[in-house]
Amino acid sequence: MPIKSRLLLLALVVAMSWPSQDAHAQLPVHYVRYASGATTSYGILEGETIRELQGDLFEGPRPTGKRLRLADVRLLPPVAPGKVIAVGLNYKSHLGERPSAAYPGLFAKLPTSIIAHGEDIVLPPDANNAHYEGEMVIVIGRRASRVSEGDAASYIFGITAGNDVSERDWQKNDLQWFRAKAADTFGPLGPVIVTGLPYDDLLLQTRLNGEVVQSQRTKDLIFNVSEIVSYVSRYVTLMPGDVIYSGTPGTTKPIKPGDVVEVEVEGVGVLRNRVVRQK
Ligand code: MG
Repeated sequence: MPIKSRLLLLALVVAMSWPSQDAHAQLPVHYVRYASGATTSYGILEGETIRELQGDLFEGPRPTGKRLRLADVRLLPPVAPGKVIAVGLNYKSHLGERPSAAYPGLFAKLPTSIIAHGEDIVLPPDANNAHYEGEMVIVIGRRASRVSEGDAASYIFGITAGNDVSERDWQKNDLQWFRAKAADTFGPLGPVIVTGLPYDDLLLQTRLNGEVVQSQRTKDLIFNVSEIVSYVSRYVTLMPGDVIYSGTPGTTKPIKPGDVVEVEVEGVGVLRNRVVRQK
């Protein structure tokens, strides 16, 4: 190849790999949903202050100008999803001896499974083998049907932390995973949705009563975020606010009344829930 062509090619490669202006422009934004008195609102969390928003979170909400102290509101799950989808067996460290699948293994939780940061995981009287599953959770930002892996990122609003609470005996013995995964309170979510994070490589940690029991980077996901969203959208139309639990790493342990489970996703913060027994 003539030297001139080589130089041109080199310049092209450098230009293409150079971070674009957009990559730097999108700083992380922390969105919360909260109750203040009788009002439920979305807001942007900045330190200990919330800037109230009006309008749909996924349609360019506007600040009202009102500011509240985080300490003065009750945090709600950061979104009220229409659908709660989850991927199973998506980290090699969780597979153990099992072979990895050729495609993402999907199952469903329910909107009624979802609880906020600070709310209690309530174990039904006959749930004797419920486990924590710390996970990064994808929040969909716009209607997605049959989107390619290459386009998937533009359908993602942001990410949050989740706990895919799973009753192992029910998971093993029931006809389906429905009860094991979708019981009330089995889907802690939050505390914030963060946009603009590099979700393909974030640290995910779970702590049980302060002890680190799961720790893995999201780059170790077998099917990454874009692959998951594209795959789900081949079969199910994703809508703004739908959430997808992306899978749990390592091993899990049973949780019992009195335990405190914390799931921390780098850049998102800590999702903390206490475990109680249903009365
Ligand atoms: Mg899971």
